[in-house]
Amino acid sequence: MHKIDEKLADVTARLQAAAAAASRPDGDITLIAVSKTQSPERVREAYSAGLRRFGENYLQEALDKQHALADLAGIEWHFIGPIQSNKTRAIAEHFSWVHSVDRLKIAERLSAQRPQHLPPLNICLQVNIDREPSKAGVHLAELPALARAVAALPGLSLRGLMAIPAPASEPEAQRQPFNQLAEALKQLKPLGLAAPLDTLSMGMSADLEAAVECGATMVRIGTDLFGPRQSKATSATNTTATTTKDNP
Ligand SMILES: *Cc1c(COP(=O)(O)O)cnc(C)c1O
Repeated sequence: MHKIDEKLADVTARLQAAAAAASRPDGDITLIAVSKTQSPERVREAYSAGLRRFGENYLQEALDKQHALADLAGIEWHFIGPIQSNKTRAIAEHFSWVHSVDRLKIAERLSAQRPQHLPPLNICLQVNIDREPSKAGVHLAELPALARAVAALPGLSLRGLMAIPAPASEPEAQRQPFNQLAEALKQLKPLGLAAPLDTLSMGMSADLEAAVECGATMVRIGTDLFGPRQSKATSATNTTATTTKDNP
């Protein structure tokens, strides 16, 4: 078996076990393979292993990869990284989902720039669940107003919430922010927004079990599918410089 097949089998088994422990159907949980810094060849292997949904953080890297993999049918691209406003047009044109919207200006641009011939862009609002000052994400207090405004935008479909909690090793500590995010989604539902609100994008390699236990419907897994990442500086664009540095 190829390495990615084994890793995918491991992750799938973990997801199934976590779903069973929470008495949830495992079909309710969608696996997003986080392929940032991974080469197009690695993504192609992952596709051959059966993966179809890929998460990317860096726009140019993602566009290059999409171009190299344009022959793969049914592949679905998710943008999960920070968004600068000058990048919204390309994101609106080349992705099916964006998990990292945390301000209205970005949502308005994505909506206006979503091509008419494509279905509405699926959106998760990123919540700064630990209220870390340096971190991306809307604070819980501002979430209802942002959700209301985003749900009203014609080019977008507000699917739910996303968070990247501060790393914690104890399951109890991992569950706390996930439960808060699940509760925040629950509280949006009675607002009567024109939005599916069916998605909780939470859980990464180190905490997917806790996330599934707390209701995750999308988990974003990089390391445990592809192995350790190259640092951003050593990926694709900068190979020569790094090779020189590493081999003086
Ligand atoms: C990199 C990244 C992941 C994947 O993290 P792993 O720990 O490698 O599984 C998930 N979500 C986001 C937003 C990321 O940037």
